[in-house]
Amino acid sequence: MDDQEPELLPPHVLIFPFPAQGHVNCMLKLAELLCLAGLHVTLLLTHHTHNRLLRYANVLSSFSRYPGFRFETISDGLPSEHPRSSDQLSELFDSIKHTSKPLLKEIMLSTRHHGERRPVTCVIADGILGFAMDAAEEVGVPIIYFRTIGACAFWAFFCIPRLIEAGELPFKGNEMDEAIENVPGMEDYLRRRDLPSFCRVGDLADPVLRLVIDETQNTTRGQALILNTFEDLEGPILAHIRTRCPKLYTIGPLHLHVKTRLIQETKSSSLNSTTCLWEQDRSCLTWLDSQPLKSVIYVSFGSITPMTKDQVMEFCHGLVNSGKRFLWVIRPDSVKGWEGQIPAEVREGTKERGYIVGWAPQEEVLAHQAVGGFLTHSGWNSTLESMVVGVPMICWPYFGDQQVNSRFVSEVWKLGLDMKDTCDRVVVEKMVRDLMEKRRDESILSADQMGKMARESVREGGSSYSNLDRLIDDIRLMIMGGEK
Ligand code: UDP
Repeated sequence: MDDQEPELLPPHVLIFPFPAQGHVNCMLKLAELLCLAGLHVTLLLTHHTHNRLLRYANVLSSFSRYPGFRFETISDGLPSEHPRSSDQLSELFDSIKHTSKPLLKEIMLSTRHHGERRPVTCVIADGILGFAMDAAEEVGVPIIYFRTIGACAFWAFFCIPRLIEAGELPFKGNEMDEAIENVPGMEDYLRRRDLPSFCRVGDLADPVLRLVIDETQNTTRGQALILNTFEDLEGPILAHIRTRCPKLYTIGPLHLHVKTRLIQETKSSSLNSTTCLWEQDRSCLTWLDSQPLKSVIYVSFGSITPMTKDQVMEFCHGLVNSGKRFLWVIRPDSVKGWEGQIPAEVREGTKERGYIVGWAPQEEVLAHQAVGGFLTHSGWNSTLESMVVGVPMICWPYFGDQQVNSRFVSEVWKLGLDMKDTCDRVVVEKMVRDLMEKRRDESILSADQMGKMARESVREGGSSYSNLDRLIDDIRLMIMGGEK
C-alpha cells in the first residue's frame, strides 16, 4: 500500500451499484478504469452480490492487482433466504432504499480513519439510488450519478412528466402504434409501444411509474452524469440531455473501454475480469467451435427477464422450425415451475441443431466466429456487447428501457429487427430466417460499421477515451474542493 504523504494520496472514489447483474457489470468496469488511472476505489456491494461474485467471477483475483481497491459490503435488508428474483425487484429496491442510507454514511465516515487512503472524496452512485445524494450531502462529499441505461432510454424516462403534461400519458384508447410527439428528438420514430414499459400503466399514481420519474429527475442534482454510451451512437439525443445535465461524460462501451486500456497499460490481452453472478457454462464455446462461420443465432434474455412455459415453447418451436443452429440461455430461475429443470420435450426437441445452457460467457459467445445473430431482450449491456462485435439482433424487449432500445436498434441504427409485443412461433421462425438469410449481408454491414465506431470511441483520442480522462481530472480537482 502507499506510504505517501497524505496530501499526495490519490482521490478516493466510492462506487455504489444497484445489486443486479447489468448494473454491477458496468460499475465494476468503471471501478477498474479508475483503478488503472491510479485512483483509490471502494466498491460497495450488498453481501448477497458480493458472495455471488466471489463464487462465480474472478474479480477477487483480478482486482488484487490494484492496491488502492477495496470491496465493502452492506446488507440489502432482506433475509438471507429471500430469492431476490426478477419478479421481486421492487421489494429489493424498497429494502435497499430503506436500509442503505445510514450504512452508506457510516462507510463514508469510517474511511476517515485510514491513514493509507484519503477519506472518500467522491461518490459515484447508481442513477436509480437517489437516496445516495442525501447521504453524500450530509457527509459533505460530492456525488456523480452513473445511469446504466442508454441515452435514448434515459431521455425517454426524463420526458415522462412532459408526456403527462401534454396529455400523451396515460394512453387514451388501445392503439399502441400511435406516434408519440413529446420526446424531443424522437418524434419521427417513437410510438406508444416503444415508450419505457412503465408508461403502459393506466394510473399515473402507479408506484413504479412515480419512482422512475422521481429517480430520473433526481439525477440532475448530482455534480455530473456518466452514461455507458458513445457520442457517435447517440449524439443527437445526448445533445438534448445536455440541455438538462450539462456535465455529462459518455465513456462507453465500458466493457470494450476496459479491455482497450488494460492492453494499453499492461500490454497483455488476457487480464479480463469476469463479473457474473451465475455459474458460466463454458461448454457452449466448445460447441460453437464445431459450427460453421456465422451460422448460429445466440438467444439470451439477460439476467432478469422471466418467461412463461408457453413463451418458452413458442421460442422453442420457432427456433427449431427456422432450421438454423442456435445457442440458447435458459436461466435456472427464469421459468416459474421448472425449478431449473428443462423438460425433456425442450431438450429432445432442440438437440439436433441447438445447445442450451443456464448461463453463458456472453461476451465471448458474441465474439465467436460461429455466431451470426443475437435474439435478445435488448438490455443495454447486451445491446452494446452485440454492437461492438458487429452481431445483428432480433429484439424481444421485456421491460424498462428495453422497449426504447429495441426501437433504436431496428429503426435508428438499423442493426436488426424488433419483435416486441409478440411471442409467436411463426414470427420467431420468420425473423430468425430474415436475420440469418435474407437480410444477412445488409444487417452485418451496418453492425460492422457500428462496431468500428465503438472501437474508435475508446481508442486514444476517441470521444469516450477523452471523456474518461476528463472525468478523472475532474475527480482529482474535487480533492481540492475545486469541483466545477
Ligand atoms: N450475461 C452473461 N451470460 C448470460 C446472459 C447474460 O454473461 O448467459 C451478461 C451479459 O453479457 C450482460 C448482462 O449479463 O452484460 C446482462 O445485462 P443487460 O443490461 O443486457 O440485461 P439485464 O440482465 O440487466 O436485463
